[in-house]
Amino acid sequence: MTTLVFATNNAHKLAEARSILGDDFHVLSLADIGCTADVDENADTLEGNSLLKAEYVFRHYGCDCFADDTGLEVRALGGAPGVHTARYASDIPDPAANRQKLLRQLSGCSDRSAQFRTAVTLFMGGNKYSCNGIVKGTIATQEKGDGGFGYDPLFIPDGYELTFAQLPTQIKNTISHRANALHNMKEIIDSIHKKL
Ligand code: IMP
Repeated sequence: MTTLVFATNNAHKLAEARSILGDDFHVLSLADIGCTADVDENADTLEGNSLLKAEYVFRHYGCDCFADDTGLEVRALGGAPGVHTARYASDIPDPAANRQKLLRQLSGCSDRSAQFRTAVTLFMGGNKYSCNGIVKGTIATQEKGDGGFGYDPLFIPDGYELTFAQLPTQIKNTISHRANALHNMKEIIDSIHKKL
């Protein structure tokens, strides 16, 4: 069993990570290790933000840990909101306002292609590793579905006609940006274990 701290208290992300990583992993949250810090995500890349969060936990708690940062990259908006995805509509993250702003920005736009990209930084055995995961799709013309979180009611992954908020959780957890990133992280961990 590999114990890892996921540098988040987002219940949705924790549930997704536990489901994606499976029974070989014991995934702890920040609350589980008594960490109440709210690390400033002020880097100008997703990779930089995931590093800030993971490094904070590693430096202060010395444990194996990982952090993620996700951006929604919309082609017609030149890759925006990207690293500003959480604070797209206002300085205080507001998922409903973010979705409304995105719909306004894409109003009348025929190219609605987009991708979610997740950057992950892992600290394991004192060493730092990084990986990414992507899922491509399109932005719906209106919100659909009650599941998931964030931009899920607007994101239709390629190969499906439903948004992430409409699709069963199991499907999202198989094909999502976070699933791809965490599978890549799992491969890194497997290769670390093989070298030991
Ligand atoms: P962070 O990675 O938690 O900083 O998330 C950045 C932004 O992306 C926030 O607005 C989240 O709501 C959004 N986000 C992250 N992951 C997902 C997802 O799986 N679905 C929809 N929105 C997401």
